[in-house]
Amino acid sequence: MIVLKTPQSYKNWRKSITKTIGFVPTMGALHDGHKELLKIAKRDNDIVVLSIFVNPTQFNDKNDFNNYPNSLNEDLEIARQIGVDAVFCPQFEDIYPDNYKFTVIENENSKILCGKSRQGHFDGVLTIVLKLFNIIAPQKAYFGEKDFQQLQLIKNMVEAFFLPIEIVPVAIVREKSGLALSSRNVHLNEAGQKIAPKIFEIISNTKNLEIAKNELINLNFEIDYLEEHWGRRFVAVKTNLTKNGNILRLIDNVKI
Ligand code: AMP
Repeated sequence: MIVLKTPQSYKNWRKSITKTIGFVPTMGALHDGHKELLKIAKRDNDIVVLSIFVNPTQFNDKNDFNNYPNSLNEDLEIARQIGVDAVFCPQFEDIYPDNYKFTVIENENSKILCGKSRQGHFDGVLTIVLKLFNIIAPQKAYFGEKDFQQLQLIKNMVEAFFLPIEIVPVAIVREKSGLALSSRNVHLNEAGQKIAPKIFEIISNTKNLEIAKNELINLNFEIDYLEEHWGRRFVAVKTNLTKNGNILRLIDNVKI
C-alpha cells in the first residue's frame, strides 16, 4: 500500500495505473461503515484508493472541526488489512491552492436538512469532492447512505458537470443496537451510548413525524430536523450526553 500526500505525487503514481480505480473518500477515524465501502470497492475494482482528509470548508462549527477524531496510524493499518492500494492524505495548502476562492454551490437540495442547519456545509462537501475526483480520477466512487443528502447531491453534481464517474451507494452500517456508525460516536458518554440507538428505533417504528418528534423530545434530544424527502425519513438531533461535555449532533435516515 502506497501513501501519497500531494496531488502531484498521486498524479505521478496514477500514470502507471491502467486498471479500474474504485475511490472511497473519507475524513478518517475509520469504522465498520467505512470498511464496508472499502470492501465493496475492493470487490468491484482492480485498484482501491482511499482518501483521508478532514475538510475544514465543510465545517460550519470550529469546535466540531477541532474535536473531529484523528487516528491516522490506525486508519492506515485498517486500510492495509482490507487491501487498499493507495491512500491519499493531503494537507489543506495542497488541496486548496486557491484558498477556497473557487466553490461549488448547489442552489436547491443543499439548502434543506443538513444544509439548513449547517450553513455552507454542502458547498464545502461538493468542492472537496470535485477536487478529489479530479485528482484521483476513478471510474467508480463509493458513498454511504448514512449521508443520504450528500450522496444525492454528489450524484446530481456528477450529472450536472458530466463527470465520467459512477457513484455507487452503500447501505448504512449499524451497531447491533441499531445506532448508525459514525466517527463522532466516540464522543458519546455511557448514558449517550444507551440512548443514541433510540434514534433509529423511533424513526423506524413511528407512524408519523408528530409521534416521532414527541418520542425524541421525551428522551431529551433537541431536534435539529425531522423530515421526509425522497421516500426517506431524515433526522438530526443534538445531545449533551458526551464525554467532553460538548453538544453532539447525530444524523440518521430510513426508507419509509
Ligand atoms: P466520513 O468519513 O464521515 O466523511 O464518511 C466517509 C464515507 O463513509 C461517506 O460516504 C459516508 O456516508 C460513509 N459512511 C459513514 N458512516 C457510515 C455508515 N454507518 N454506513 C455506511 N456508510 C457510512
